[in-house]
Amino acid sequence: MKINELFEKKKLVLSAEVFPPKTSGTLELVVRALKDIASCKPDFVSVTCSAGNEMRTEDVATVVKDAFSMECVAHLTCVNATKASVAERLETLKRKRVDNILVLRGDVRDGDKLTDFHYASELAEFVKSSCPDFNLIGACYPEGHFEAESLDKDIENLKRKIDAGVTHLVTQLFMDNEVFYRYLDKLEKAGIDVPVAAGIMPITTTAMIKRTVELSGASMPHRFTALAARFEGVAMREAGLNYAVEQITELISRGVRGVHLYTMNKGDVATEVFSRIEKVAESVRQ
Ligand code: FAD
Repeated sequence: MKINELFEKKKLVLSAEVFPPKTSGTLELVVRALKDIASCKPDFVSVTCSAGNEMRTEDVATVVKDAFSMECVAHLTCVNATKASVAERLETLKRKRVDNILVLRGDVRDGDKLTDFHYASELAEFVKSSCPDFNLIGACYPEGHFEAESLDKDIENLKRKIDAGVTHLVTQLFMDNEVFYRYLDKLEKAGIDVPVAAGIMPITTTAMIKRTVELSGASMPHRFTALAARFEGVAMREAGLNYAVEQITELISRGVRGVHLYTMNKGDVATEVFSRIEKVAESVRQ
C-alpha cells in the first residue's frame, strides 16, 4: 500500500524506523526489534539505508513485509550513486513489492562523489520518471539542514522535492514541539501542504544525548537537559520515555498528521512508547 493513501484515510499515521545491520552482521537484532514493533501495529515501518549497504535495507524490508505483514518504506540515498545503480535498486525494490521510498541524498563525506545526483530532489525526479508507481517520501529539518544558509533557503529547496513528486515528509528528530509548530507555519506560508510526520526519538541514556546532538543537530531544551542532568540508569530511561510520550501526546492534541518513532532498534522502548500513547492515538485515529 502507498503511504499517501494512508494519510488520505487516517487522521493520524504512526510509524517506526529501524536500521539494518552492517554488511557483516546478522538480521537477528533487527528482527527481534521488529517483532516488538509489530505487536504495536504501527501503520508502517521504515528501514534506513547506508551507501554500499543497500542490500541489507532490501533484506530488512522483505522481513518487514513478508514475516511481519507490515507496510514498509525503504530509504534510498544517492551519494556515490549513478542512474544505473539506482535503476538496479528500484528493480529489486519492485521485485520485493516495496511501494514506498524515502528519497534521500545522504551525508557527503570526504571522498564521496555526487555525479548523477546532487540532491534528493534529483533522485525523486529520476524515480518518478523511470518508475512512476513508487510513492515518494522526503526528509525535512525543522531547525534547518546544517548545510543550508538559512531555514528559509532550506524550505525553498524542500519545495523542489515536493515538486518532484514527494507526497509526505518526515522530520529530523526534534525535542521542542514549539520548533515544529513554527516550522509547520513556515511550510504553510511557502505553499507546502503535504502531510508532515513528526520525528521523535526517545532518549533513554545519557550517552545518547551527545551522539544525538552530533548526528541530528537538534537543540535540547532546558526541560530536557534538566532531566538528563538529574537522572541516570533506569531513572534516565524512564525520564526519557516520559519526555517522548509527553511530546507525542501534545503533538496529537495539536492535530499532528503523523508520528515517526526513531526506535534505534530498541523494540522494548518502541513498545513502551506506543502502548503509552495508544489511547490518545486511538481517540483521533479512524
Ligand atoms: P537534500 O534534500 O538533497 O538537501 C541537502 C542539502 O542541500 C540541504 O541543505 C538543502 O537545503 C540543500 N539543497 C537541496 N536542493 C538544493 C538545490 N537544488 N540547490 C542548492 N541546495 C539544495 N541518511 C542516510 O544516510 N540514510 C538514511 O536512511 C537516512 N534517513 C533519514 C531519514 C530522515 C527522516 C531524515 C530527516 C534524515 C535521514 N538521513 C539518512 C540523513 C540525510 O541523508 C542527511 O541529513 C543528508 O545530509 C541530507 O539528505 P536530504 O535527503 O535531506 O538532502
